[in-house]
Amino acid sequence: LRERAARVLAGGVSSDARRLPNGTLFVDRAEGAHLYDVDGKRYIDYVLGQGPALLGHAAGPVADAVAAQVRRGVSYSAQHRDEVELAETLVRVVPGAEKVRFNSVGSEAVHGALRLARGHTGRSKVVKFEGHYHGWLDPVLYSVHPPVDAAGPARQPRPVPGTGGQQLSSAGDLLLAPWNDLDALTELMERHGDDVAAVIMEPVLCNTGVIMPAEGYLEAVHDLCRRTGALLVFDEVITGFRLSLGGAQEYLGVTPDLAVFGKAIAGGMQLSAFAGRADVMDRISSGQVAHAGTFNSHPVAVAAARATLEVLERDRDVIYPRVFHLGALLAEGLREAAREAGVPLLVTGPGPMIQTYVTDAGDVRDYRDFARTDLAAAARLHGLLMDRGVNIVPRGLWFLSTAHTEEDVTETVAAAADALRAL
Ligand code: PMP
Repeated sequence: LRERAARVLAGGVSSDARRLPNGTLFVDRAEGAHLYDVDGKRYIDYVLGQGPALLGHAAGPVADAVAAQVRRGVSYSAQHRDEVELAETLVRVVPGAEKVRFNSVGSEAVHGALRLARGHTGRSKVVKFEGHYHGWLDPVLYSVHPPVDAAGPARQPRPVPGTGGQQLSSAGDLLLAPWNDLDALTELMERHGDDVAAVIMEPVLCNTGVIMPAEGYLEAVHDLCRRTGALLVFDEVITGFRLSLGGAQEYLGVTPDLAVFGKAIAGGMQLSAFAGRADVMDRISSGQVAHAGTFNSHPVAVAAARATLEVLERDRDVIYPRVFHLGALLAEGLREAAREAGVPLLVTGPGPMIQTYVTDAGDVRDYRDFARTDLAAAARLHGLLMDRGVNIVPRGLWFLSTAHTEEDVTETVAAAADALRAL
């Protein structure tokens, strides 16, 4: 399969797979917290499709809803009742969601939210933070650490009205700030504040380490945005529905102007959304800002999302404590195993997603700290874990699901102890 893939797929479908030191994982099927490869080998899965399978793979209510919807019709590209009811659910459970628009994948919804922020404010610049990832659509925005001096093309085509102007990179409109550093952001906003349409961030950083915002930081950024007229955009593509039913904004108690959702929203199907203040979202209602897409609010994805959110909303008092508990148990087990093996392993969380770093540092507060950890050793650890039937995101990220059990965690810690000794 690897040879055949190399002949017909450019780089393979998964960039993570290419980084595996011991070959490519070809999945045959996935069920609950487990993946099975084409040779029948079982993996305890902490990748969960890069986060979406919060209820585990092939969760019954999601599978049933998908099957039923496929029989009712797959692609309407028209308004339907389930879309309205899903939007009503989001407005009910996400603190800052007054109105909603749906897309297919996270990158698209990020694009929609930023276009909307530019349309609403009439400004063009966007601040992003070092190490934060917001999808792959914009050539500079997609990088976790874009070059600050990206040069724009000499001739710029005229943008279609309502589309938010040029791509961020070609307009030279992307400003980069270190995260968790209020002084640096304040200085940047003093220099560019009147031109800044949006400040976008992962409210809990998950793409280069799992890092909580410093005490009071989100509140202060929110304040700064309000003072300068920029919109605060939370990219909750990972944190949404995972950290809490209402996402990081509910968990941390800070409500952004706009937020972006994807991944876990539809239990593994492709659905994304951006949502926020009604007065901002209504730029779309009035036609001032364009938003379109053949597969937006796809009936099958919407059915999967409705089933997922129904379970999460009904069982929230059981589900979230359980996922946090399992994550904490796993983190403690990994710390203990690393101590015994003599490997300097830092483990951070909150429980629904935890991060392992090979480092002597006592703390990792931002991308710069993350970049100083031993990334080569982390990559070797990833391969050693794969050999032992544990699948994690190669940079040391572990997603928990409601399908994981304490037995899975015990088995994982034993495998990790062996992998850490080998490391
Ligand atoms: N934002 C964040 C925070 C993400 O982690 C990702 C994907 N890893 C995206 C946006 C892009 O989402 P997608 O891959 O569905 O386009």
